Amino acid sequence: MQEIKQTKKKRRKRELITEFPERKDPNKREFAPGWKFAVHDAFKDALDIKLTTVVTKKEDGTKKEEKIWTQGAAFSFSEGDVIHKNPDGQLTNNHDNADPHIFIQVNKAAPTVDETLGYVKFQVFTQTNNPFSITNDDVYDCNQREFVRLLKTGVFTPLGSNNDIIIKMGINEIENAIVYYSRNAKKQPFKVTIKKDQDLVYVNCDCPLGLEKKLCRHKINAMRGDRENKSSLTSEETIEQLRKLFCNSSSARNFLEDEWRKLREFSHSFPGNEDEIQNRRKRIGMALANGFENTIEGPHYFNIRSWEENRIPLADNLYAPVLFKYTDSDGETTEREVTVFEIFSNNSNFYLYGYCHLRHGMRTFALNRIDTVYFSSLSLNKDKIDLLNDVKKQIPNIIIG
Ligand SMILES: [Zn+2]
Repeated sequence: MQEIKQTKKKRRKRELITEFPERKDPNKREFAPGWKFAVHDAFKDALDIKLTTVVTKKEDGTKKEEKIWTQGAAFSFSEGDVIHKNPDGQLTNNHDNADPHIFIQVNKAAPTVDETLGYVKFQVFTQTNNPFSITNDDVYDCNQREFVRLLKTGVFTPLGSNNDIIIKMGINEIENAIVYYSRNAKKQPFKVTIKKDQDLVYVNCDCPLGLEKKLCRHKINAMRGDRENKSSLTSEETIEQLRKLFCNSSSARNFLEDEWRKLREFSHSFPGNEDEIQNRRKRIGMALANGFENTIEGPHYFNIRSWEENRIPLADNLYAPVLFKYTDSDGETTEREVTVFEIFSNNSNFYLYGYCHLRHGMRTFALNRIDTVYFSSLSLNKDKIDLLNDVKKQIPNIIIG
């Protein structure tokens, strides 16, 4: 680390812009706590946090030299610097529309020198993995001081302007998060964060399963407003808020209770099938993480915007009556009479979507839970038959007769 001498001209402050935690592992970077962007400790120089020799006089008149960290104002971010929204950079694969990965790349820069504030020309990138996309917003420029403000707060004033620009950080920007702490025997409680944006609710947990966006017991506890499993950090007010948000008739609550029951039953019946258990945790967890629609009159389970966005329609506007045997996750097989509107794929699985005459409602059926679906050519026009013949190449249990 660069060592400099205290000069009279530029006073350096003892109060630092951020206190980086000490590295626990010398090879593992630590990050500026509480900053919007994950600024790691190798940026100390750029932040003008430097080890400085200061000379103090002791009471007995002798001088004492010591080295301390001090703060200057000569910020010097430079070309090629990349700063991510999260400390793990792009490593996680779970960034979606609600919680995109954001990163900043410095294209050109001049450091702060003497009275000039320097400048930083940079670009903001927004990346989602689900579905994968990467977009770059406009190129911005601002002075070094404003750039540091951006890293800290997500807001900066561009050069030649008086107006702030706010960089959208995704889910973190939704205000009024409800935080439920779920008890965790002897250890730190797990933190479930519930964010509400109109009818959409985002439910996330910081336990190991939750970090993979899988369904965990803590999310269930939170959505139930469970008192028995809450940690003492969870206030009664939070419980009341949660019970109001996820009342018994809300679609999110119905979905969750039903899926949780099925998951438990499945893991009881097939304890060895860990892959499928994890798949299901992931599927339900993703729905909750992506902004589950929370309405009293939930139209059907999969009316989640993000799910809809991932849906790839293979054949739609079919209005075709079909009969098939469907085995649900409890292993119960029922004969279903369904008017199929659409066949679609989502995450490499295939689904039928239509009106179920047994359940009197719109339902989604996974095609791998269906024996065979027989479409009668009498009920379809030529275009539809051609479309279905195409689909049939991918899905063998479709029969057209
Ligand atoms: Zn959890």
